[in-house]
Order: sequence, then structure tokens, then C-alpha cells
Amino acid sequence: MLETTIAGSLPKPSWLAEPQKLWPAWKLEGSALEEGKRDAVLAALKLQERAGIDIVTEGEMGRQHFVHGFLERLSGIDFVKRQLIGIRADRYKAVCPTVTGPIRRAASVHGAEARFARAATTRRLKFTLPGPMTIVDTLADEHYRDRGTMAMAFADALNQEARDLAAAGIDVVQFDEPAFNVYADEVREWGVAALERAAAGLNEGGLACKTAVHICYGYGIKANIDWKATLGAQWRQYESVFPLLAKSRIDQVSLECINSRVPLELVALLDGKDVLAGAIDVASDTVETPEQVAAAIRAVMKYARPERIFPCTNCGMAPMARPIAEAKLNSLAAGAALVRRELAKP
Ligand code: ZN
Repeated sequence: MLETTIAGSLPKPSWLAEPQKLWPAWKLEGSALEEGKRDAVLAALKLQERAGIDIVTEGEMGRQHFVHGFLERLSGIDFVKRQLIGIRADRYKAVCPTVTGPIRRAASVHGAEARFARAATTRRLKFTLPGPMTIVDTLADEHYRDRGTMAMAFADALNQEARDLAAAGIDVVQFDEPAFNVYADEVREWGVAALERAAAGLNEGGLACKTAVHICYGYGIKANIDWKATLGAQWRQYESVFPLLAKSRIDQVSLECINSRVPLELVALLDGKDVLAGAIDVASDTVETPEQVAAAIRAVMKYARPERIFPCTNCGMAPMARPIAEAKLNSLAAGAALVRRELAKP
């Protein structure tokens, strides 16, 4: 119980990409870049194993950005035709590629990365993909002209990818849906349906892969910190989403707990699901003590049984300084171990 995991991304080594940047430029090219990405995956796995993280990831070392890393290999998207659009309900502007035709996945996007990581660790391995709504919200569109319809097209491409990942031995496929915290009406109308379509069949036909959804208040970048300051004393965005997810076929749901204004009683809305409980703040460089992590876990245990709680980071660590991320992972594992020892006492 209280098996630890991380949201997904880790800082890239400074020899691979610009450090502490959300869209870092690669420092290598060609075959040296491919070799560097693989070396970075080995380092990311080792970092987590040494810290004592139970369910590890490849740290998203192969992608510049958590959304566009998947999109680069699909057809139907024009990466030259970039447009400045407002994303996450205009929280920030980003220059994004344009959908100009039907979305198709001709070949596996992350399959080789998944097989490489699978061969490099004996721990359970999670692989992250962007969720359909978050993809739709991070692209300009001149083809579908309807967000729900476009989300279903991406869900089909994601599902092909997710099945390949499950077949490669990935234990958990997680879809990142920060947009779920922004568009409550669309989540109800088509967001959860698109998510379930992306996640369908991963636990059937010889596959034994769990599905997770990561919903968060974003990295610790200024636009997000400013946005959170407008959300009031209690952040209740999860309140409308969680009951829909509780009824869905998704196995695991993440939420931000530590240093967040999310009322933890909302965890009770996830009855029957695994809870990825954020016990590490990625928006602060202050390293939590193991006791602070333990306190965050105990607070969630008021609303969910420990067998269902997986202590986790609040969000990805990609833009953080590497030594700070490492220290935070050490505290995450140590804090979970503290609570496990308490629970083991007669
Ligand atoms: Zn996140």
C-alpha cells in the first residue's frame, strides 16, 4: 500500500536540452540526440529507483513538450502553419500548429521509447500521453471546426498508441488532462467520453494495463501561479469532474493535495478509484521534508483507504532544477515509508 509514483516528467539533463525551460531546445542533433535521449532515460529511471519510487516513468526525456511530442508523428497537422492562440481559456497564449486534415496515426509514436525503458527497469512502468481535450486545446484548427468531433479523432489515434504501449509491457498508461480543470461543461459533454475512448481495451485481450488520468493546476510557471491566485479560497474544479470519472472505466485519478487549496473531502467523490495523491509541490523549490509528505498522505487517508492511495507529485517536474527534483523524489519515497511503518504497527 501507498506505492509511490510521479506525475510523469523529470528535468532533462543540461547536456541534452536547455535546463529549466518548458519548451527547451535540444543541445544535440541527429544520432547523437537519439543516443542522448536514451542515456537520459537510463538516468531518469536510476534516479527514481535510487529514491525508492515504486511505479516509475521514463521522465518524458524524448519530448520537448508533453502535448506536441505525441502530435509530431501524426498526419493531419501542419507544423509549419503555426498560429498564436489563447489556450486554457486564454490563460496564456502559445504559438501552436494547425490541424488541416483528418488525424491519422500511421505508425507508433512512442513504441521504441517504451520498449527501451521497459528493458531498462524491473519496476512497474507508467507512460504518459496527452489527453484528447488537452490536445484539442493546444492546437489551432482549420479542419474539424468542432472541438468535440476533433477530440474523438485524437482519441482514436491515442487508443492505437495506448494499445501499443500496453503490448510493450507498460503497466499504466496515463492521460494528462489539465484542460479538465478549465472546461467543466465540455468535460461533461464530450471530455470524459473522449478519454474513455482513448483508454479503451487496455485491460482486455491479453493486455493487463491500468489507465490513469492526471488533472492538475499546472506547472509552477507564472501564468499558472497568477491563475491560481484568482480561484478563491477553495479550488473546487474537481468537484464536477470526479463524479463523472468515478462512473468511468478509468482506474486511477490524480489530484493536487500539498500546498493546494483543493478541499480534500473531494477525494471521497472518487469512490472505487485509485487516487494519485499529490504530496510534492512542483511550483516551489522548497524541498518537502518526509514528515510533510507523510502529513499530506495522512490527510488524504481521511477520505480513501491506504490501499487505494498512490503518493505522487502534484504535476510534472520538467521545468525544475534537477537537484531539487531529485531531493523531492527522495522525500516522496521517505514520507510514504513513514506512513507505511505507522500502518504496520499493531
Ligand atoms: Zn500536471
